Amino acid sequence: MTPPDQETERQEALAADARWFSGVRHWSVSTKLILMIAPLMILFLVLFAWAFAGRQRMQVLDQQTTTTAEAILTQIQADREYYSAVVMPRLTAMNLSISAEYHLTPNAFPLPATFIREVTEMIANSPAGYRVKLISPWPINKKNGVQDAFQEEGFKALLTTNTKMFKRQEHANGTTVMRFLVADRAVSQSCLGCHNTHPNSPKQDFRLNDILGGIEVSIPIESALQQARRDQLWIVAGGGGISLIVMLLIVWGSRVVVTQPVRELTAQMQKVSGAGGDVAEEPAVRRRTEQAMGEEIRQLWHGFWDMYLSLRLHQQERSADLEQQAGEMQILNQRLIDMQKITQSMQQAISEEEVYRILCHTLQQSLSLRQILILRLNASEDRLETIWTAPKREDLPLDGYPVWNEPHRCPVIRSGRDYKVQDTSRDLVCSSSVSNEQQGGYWCVPLVIGGRTIGVVHLVSQEPGRWTEDTCHWIEALVNVAAPMIGHLQHLERAKRRALIDELTGTYNRRFLEEALAKMVVPDDRRRGQVLSLMVIDLDHFKKVNDTYGHQVGDMVLKTVAQTLHRTLKESDVLARYGGEEFVVVLPRTDTAGAVAVGERLRVAVAGLSLRKLAPVAPERVTISIGVASYPVHATTVTELIRAADEALYQSKSQGRNRVTCAPDSLEVAYQNPDEEDTLR
Ligand code: GH3
Ligand code: MG
Ligand code: MG
Repeated sequence: MTPPDQETERQEALAADARWFSGVRHWSVSTKLILMIAPLMILFLVLFAWAFAGRQRMQVLDQQTTTTAEAILTQIQADREYYSAVVMPRLTAMNLSISAEYHLTPNAFPLPATFIREVTEMIANSPAGYRVKLISPWPINKKNGVQDAFQEEGFKALLTTNTKMFKRQEHANGTTVMRFLVADRAVSQSCLGCHNTHPNSPKQDFRLNDILGGIEVSIPIESALQQARRDQLWIVAGGGGISLIVMLLIVWGSRVVVTQPVRELTAQMQKVSGAGGDVAEEPAVRRRTEQAMGEEIRQLWHGFWDMYLSLRLHQQERSADLEQQAGEMQILNQRLIDMQKITQSMQQAISEEEVYRILCHTLQQSLSLRQILILRLNASEDRLETIWTAPKREDLPLDGYPVWNEPHRCPVIRSGRDYKVQDTSRDLVCSSSVSNEQQGGYWCVPLVIGGRTIGVVHLVSQEPGRWTEDTCHWIEALVNVAAPMIGHLQHLERAKRRALIDELTGTYNRRFLEEALAKMVVPDDRRRGQVLSLMVIDLDHFKKVNDTYGHQVGDMVLKTVAQTLHRTLKESDVLARYGGEEFVVVLPRTDTAGAVAVGERLRVAVAGLSLRKLAPVAPERVTISIGVASYPVHATTVTELIRAADEALYQSKSQGRNRVTCAPDSLEVAYQNPDEEDTLR
């Protein structure tokens, strides 16, 4: 056989084994039990029956043969007794002789021993097959001596122990016999006379009752033994058969009591598990099964049902939990997406207002609040201002809000911590609250930038208990995203302002002015016909102020003059510090006459200032000189316009200061119709 063939055979053998094992695995418990126990039990029963029957039979046989042997021996003894005690004295009285060789002698009779021997020989010839023999360790006739081991051992036992009968089963010449040996004693004087005096006798000192020899009885038991074996076989076969029947009954019983109920319960269990945990009532088990199954199986079924119910309950709770978790996760997920969008929008915001708008819109969309207010401290932190209101509400007394001018009365501003009211009808409300809702609650969240509280987000809900942990986290996250954006935009705004505003006077600087003028003075069709005037203002003898009172006083004077100019001008007019103690004012939609009138008002206002009221060591009064030029009357470009106004200023200076001078070409016009042109402003 080639190696691949061997391999195939090996594989096939393994597959067959696997099939066998998988077949065995599906056997029922009772089959397995029976198959394990039955062979051993049957073997044990058979062996037991075999041994028991054999022993019983041997005992019976032994008893039977012993009884038979005893009967024969008793008969022989009795015959001899009778012969010795009755027959022999009569024969002697009749002068008849007694001799071993009696058949050769006329009128002679046999000796007792001869009589017995001949009786035994007659028995031996009987159809029963018994053999009886007279033997002796000291025989007169050598033929009657001990001939085998049985006889030797028998005499030894009879002579040395109290044994009455020595017996043994022996097998010889193809047959089995039971051999018995009993003592033959000197019962009369004639026995002693013969044995002690006979010339062939090897022992001549026997006394009465001494053992002279023995009588051996041998009973054939071969056929009885065969019968016993046949009986044994019958018993074994019967026992085996009965065991087999009992086994079959057990198999059948176990199928009825165990296998079938378990199968039906398994089917019910499969039905229950197949229903996906949807079974609410205990399935009915067939009545037959119910009756047949033992207590353990009933407990197994109830155990299963209890386990099923508890698992079902657990599963229901678990799936409810999972559903809730999934819902929460969905909300969380949506919020993360929203948060990302909001963060992006806020990052793209270019003004603080835009951030507030995004924040309020998001809060309103996700929480449907009654009111959102954003309050912010002003730059000097002495006032709390409403920056954003959503929705706009007429009924809210915002102007009368109690903490407007005293921001530190607000607990959130004071502590930097939030203030939460779940239910206004039950909780302690803040004394500074702006809300006038009769039901619901409110929550004030601090707007913190760089560790400083700069404002408050005030949220109002009509629904009590609205501020759950979850909602608060979400709002706080939103506010925390918005706060740095607000801070950043405020910072940008301040930087931008710083770049365009003069620090000392608070007016616009020269850079701003030039940019503004570049946009305003555009010689194109759209602006054609729109007049604009420009004033250059210079403080008179300012150097002297510095020289006399010092630079600090000079600065104060500059600042005061700038504030006076600002106050006197309109919102739409542009005031800028042009450099040193010079200012420029741009008057949109104002012609020369109007500008001169404004200049005059400014001049009067500054001249009317009492500086000593502001600082004790200062000049009593300062004056300004003004030069006015208009577009497009005196110039068509910015440079020309400034130059024209500057030249007019120079005129004011040279004519004695503290006056307003218009650029030369239009002086007449300006002074001719000042009231008429006023309507343009
Ligand atoms: P005039 O009437 O001809 O204008 O005389 P004036 O002294 O005002 O003119 P001048 O141009 O000679 O002097 C201007 C002075 O303004 C010089 C300078 O020290 C002062 N000045 C310019 N800028 C500042 C400032 O920011 N602060 C102070 N204190 N003084 C300034
Ligand atoms: Mg000057
Ligand atoms: Mg000056």
